[in-house]
Amino acid sequence: MSIDVDAATQEKRYTVAVRALCEFTAKQGDLDLRFTPSPTAQEGIQGHAIVAARRGEDYRSEVVLAGDHGPLHVRGRADGYDPGRRLLEEVKTYRGQLSSIPDNHRHLHWAQLRVYGHLLCEQLGLETVNLALVYFDIGSQQETAFNETRTRAELAALFADQCGRFLAWAEQELAHRAVRDAALDAMRFPHADFRPGQRQLAEAVFRANTGKRSLLAQAPTGIGKTVGTLFPALKAAPKQELDKLFFLAAKTPGRQLALHAAGTLKLHADLPLRILELAARDKACEHPDKACRGDACPLARGFYDRLPAARAACLDAPLLDRATLREVGLAHEVCPYYLGSEMTRWSDVVIGDYNYWFDGGAMLYNLAQANGWRVSVLADEAHNLVSRARGMYSAELERGSLRAARAVAPPVVQKALEKLGRAWTGAGKDAPLPYQVLDKPPAKFVDALGNAVSAISEHLAESAVPLDPALRDFYFAAMAFARLAESFGPHSLFDLAREDVRDTVLCIRNVVPAPFLGPRFEFAHSTTLFSATLGPWNYFADLLGMPQTTAWIDVESPFRASQLDVHVAHGISTKFQRRAGSLAPIAALMGRQYRERPGNYLAFFSSFDYLQQALERFEREHPDIPTWRQSRRMSEDERAGFLARFAVGGRGIGFAVLGGSFGEGIDLPGERLIGAFVATLGLPQVNPVNEQLRLRMDDMFGAGYDYTYLYPGMQKVVQAAGRVIRTEQDRGTVWLIDERFARPEVRALLPAWWQMDGATQGVSVPAP
Ligand code: SF4
Repeated sequence: MSIDVDAATQEKRYTVAVRALCEFTAKQGDLDLRFTPSPTAQEGIQGHAIVAARRGEDYRSEVVLAGDHGPLHVRGRADGYDPGRRLLEEVKTYRGQLSSIPDNHRHLHWAQLRVYGHLLCEQLGLETVNLALVYFDIGSQQETAFNETRTRAELAALFADQCGRFLAWAEQELAHRAVRDAALDAMRFPHADFRPGQRQLAEAVFRANTGKRSLLAQAPTGIGKTVGTLFPALKAAPKQELDKLFFLAAKTPGRQLALHAAGTLKLHADLPLRILELAARDKACEHPDKACRGDACPLARGFYDRLPAARAACLDAPLLDRATLREVGLAHEVCPYYLGSEMTRWSDVVIGDYNYWFDGGAMLYNLAQANGWRVSVLADEAHNLVSRARGMYSAELERGSLRAARAVAPPVVQKALEKLGRAWTGAGKDAPLPYQVLDKPPAKFVDALGNAVSAISEHLAESAVPLDPALRDFYFAAMAFARLAESFGPHSLFDLAREDVRDTVLCIRNVVPAPFLGPRFEFAHSTTLFSATLGPWNYFADLLGMPQTTAWIDVESPFRASQLDVHVAHGISTKFQRRAGSLAPIAALMGRQYRERPGNYLAFFSSFDYLQQALERFEREHPDIPTWRQSRRMSEDERAGFLARFAVGGRGIGFAVLGGSFGEGIDLPGERLIGAFVATLGLPQVNPVNEQLRLRMDDMFGAGYDYTYLYPGMQKVVQAAGRVIRTEQDRGTVWLIDERFARPEVRALLPAWWQMDGATQGVSVPAP
């Protein structure tokens, strides 16, 4: 569903896909998301191709059809048309038993086919048409067709009925868009003035949106990045005819900031803006012990019947955050999580996690494609995107999980799992080392894996009882692995790790997410990735697959060099082999700094072990200085307790791990934090996996060490040290504890506004 201008009449029209129109008007009954082994996208495409190949020479596949009803423009592609038989077909692939396709799905399929039937009659001037709903079984490759013949008049009446029911909503949407765009056009910046740097950022985002380009923006903390990106993107929306703005964040606090900023813009300019927060399913679910289907969960029962009223209530809410969705959902007895998903269609600003746009089955990306939305995307804290995206396109299979699955598998699945076991052993034969990278997943193994997945799918489709958890877990892992094996390429490593002779772990490890993310950047009208540490830009552009036309900006910091004393501890090495010797001088340095200027400090170390050793040494030397520490797997309360120690007027040093939960995304302005010690370059561990990554980075970009070790490490250092100065009033100290910080190539990666002149940089520390 998108709004555009009719070229002939110059009037605004509402374009809707046939599927979306029918989902709106013809979906009824329960939400039914029981796990059924539905065909994969690939299988679906193959199924359609098989059916088309069985038809005659004149058969036309993928017939493009369109028609109008008032301001509604309806378009879509029917699966196939046989002119000789005047037969229009809609093909649906399935697996298992035909009777398991719920009635409300069939109802929807018929509605779609009849709309296509009407559009075809109008296009070809037919007075009658034969319609066939063809269900194709992926397993047996059998077709089952349901037929009917309809007159042009009947189909026109059905089409008018569907459109009529949608039209009231569409007209409301058109009116909303007109008012929204007028208000955005007139919108002024919500504060008296831009903060230093904020205008530069806002202008760059505006230019990127008006120029339909992507943007990488490195912008320091404290300039108001969230408003500084939301405001210009919204301001550009009317002229660029943007349907929606997606604001993506790596973590919940980033989402909260965006919600607050969007809410402020809305309030300040009295914008009729619909703002939606997408929360994770496990956070929004009201019945975590139940399945998402009508016979299990009361909020799934009759979901589509009650949806229209809930949807209307949502539009009256000033802000659709998680709490409001819950309130509306419960009042209308519909699931708040799926209500939120539904409302993405009707919202202007959607705020959610990266995965809604970037991962393999990303909901927002899929909806935008299906509906032809013109979208602008903003991604905050984007330095996280490389590692997050790598995770989205990686998969692992443990031999132990296959054994566990075999132990509970029914006889019909056993044979396929046994074969898979043999192929797995064969794959491992060529990899005798504890860790080895192979060229690609062996064909025999991939075939056996595909067969095992099919066997479990067939069993699941036929069986009335759910899968045993061990078999189910293996099935999900195997499906994910098989999907990635299909698209295996130089962007990924295929490796085998051997814990002992029996236990091997196979991994498809994505190292360059660019081929997966690139199409998303190409599809969006504009994408802005921003963060305080987004350099060097080529690292992100290469790994993420940003388009050639991507702009890059390094926003000037609002902070003065005089606010931050940056020291390099020349005499200390934090290299693994020299750690023991580093403990005494680090304790001495920290103690001296603390006594010179008592207050709250954070001290970062590269691992929990190093942290523990440094803490013990420090406490021995300075028992009077309060300390507290980050521990492994802290709960939310424990994390809050750690941060609460950084009170105004407080004293002491919090010990934390670099790259952990206190190394970024926390805000301790003023006296709450007056200094940081960073006792490491943050370089990832040298291990076989990282060494393979280095080789691949060298092959692909000629920058193995930098892309694997130096850049990711220094991003963590700058993030951690960036906790100290949060406002233009803050003053503080950063100690970079390692002699390598003095190297020119390392210093080049530190923020330009940090001043490390002779007076501060040259502080040396007594050798151990
Ligand atoms: S409340 Fe939970 S179980 Fe029920 S439909 Fe929603 S997500 Fe599924």
